[in-house]
Amino acid sequence: MSTLVTGGAGYIGSTVVRELIRQGEDVVVFDNLSQGHRKAVHQDATLVVGDLADAGAVDSVFRTYDIDAIMHFASHTLVGESMEEPFLYLDTNIRCGLNLMRAAVEHDADRFILSSTANLFGLPDEMPITEETSIDPGSPYGESKRILERYLHWLDRTRGMTFAALRYFNAAGAAGPDHGEDHDPETHLIPIVLEVALGQRDEIVIFGDDYDTPDGTCVRDYIHVRDLAQAHILALRALKDGKSRVYNLGNGNGYSVREVIETAREVTGREIPARVGDRRPGDPATLIADAQRIRDELGWDPQFPTLSDIISTAWDWHVKHPDGYASVSERPS
Ligand code: UDP
Repeated sequence: MSTLVTGGAGYIGSTVVRELIRQGEDVVVFDNLSQGHRKAVHQDATLVVGDLADAGAVDSVFRTYDIDAIMHFASHTLVGESMEEPFLYLDTNIRCGLNLMRAAVEHDADRFILSSTANLFGLPDEMPITEETSIDPGSPYGESKRILERYLHWLDRTRGMTFAALRYFNAAGAAGPDHGEDHDPETHLIPIVLEVALGQRDEIVIFGDDYDTPDGTCVRDYIHVRDLAQAHILALRALKDGKSRVYNLGNGNGYSVREVIETAREVTGREIPARVGDRRPGDPATLIADAQRIRDELGWDPQFPTLSDIISTAWDWHVKHPDGYASVSERPS
C-alpha cells in the first residue's frame, strides 16, 4: 500500500516524503511542479506530474497505485496573496481538495492528513492558541482550509474517512543542506532575511512596527520543517485507530520580526539592513501555538525548537544553494 502525497515536491511536502521513505513507506507524489521542484522529491518516491484541478488525472492515480492514505499539501498558501486573489483560494484550493477527497472516498482510501493553518484563528482572542480557540479565518487562505477541514468532518460522519488536520504556525528551516525552501517569488520572512544576508537583496522591509506587541512588529511561532514532518508521521500512524483529530503545531514561543532579523545577524555574522514599511493586509499581530495536545496524545517532541537552530539550518541551505534547486544536482536519496 502507498501513501499519496499531493504537493510532495514542495517545501513541507518534500520534507515529509523524505521522512516517510526513511520509515520504509511506499510513497506516490502528485504535484504539478508549478511551485514545487522535481529535485526536492526523494529518489525512492514515485513522482506523478499532474494537476488536482483535473479530476480524471486524480482518479487515474488512484486506479494505478494502491493508495490507502493521503497527505494533502498541494495548495496556494499565502495569506497576503489570498487577500489580493480571493478566487485562487476560495475556488481553486477548494475544488482541488474536493477532487482529491472524492477520489479518495471512491477508492476506499480512508486516512487523510490535511495541511491546515494558524490563519484559521484570524485575530485570536486568546494566546497561546489551543485547538479550542474560536475559529474565524483571517483571510481567504484561512477560509479555504477551514472549509476543507469541514468537508473532512462530514466525510468522517458519512463515509468513514479518518482525518487529521494539522494547523501549522510558521514553518521554517531546511531539512538539510541540500533540501530547503525555494519559492518564486519568495515572500516568507526567514528566507528573505537570509537573501539579504547573502547580498541577493538590499534590505528587509519590516511590514509595520505599530502592532500591539512588545517591539511593535508581528510575533510568530516558528517551527522547524523536520519537526512538522515528524508530526505528520505520528498522525498517519495514529489514524489507524479510526479517530479523527485536529492538532496545532508550533513551539509555543513567539518571536517578533525584529528578533528574527537580530537572530539572523548573529547566525550569519552579516549586517542585514532593515527598514520599516507599511503593514501587510491580513497579518495578525501575534500567533503562538499551544501544541500540548499532540505532545500528550502522540508524544510529539520537536528536535529543533530554538530560533537559532531553525535559522542555522536554513542558512546552511542558502549558502550552499544561493539559487535554490537550480544548483541541486539530483533528487535526494
Ligand atoms: N514579514 C516582514 N517582511 C517580509 C516578509 C514578512 O515583515 O518581507 C513579516 C510578516 O508581516 C509576518 C512575519 O514576517 O508578520 C512572518 O511572515 P511570513 O510571510 O514569513 O509568514 P506568515 O506569518 O504570513 O505565515
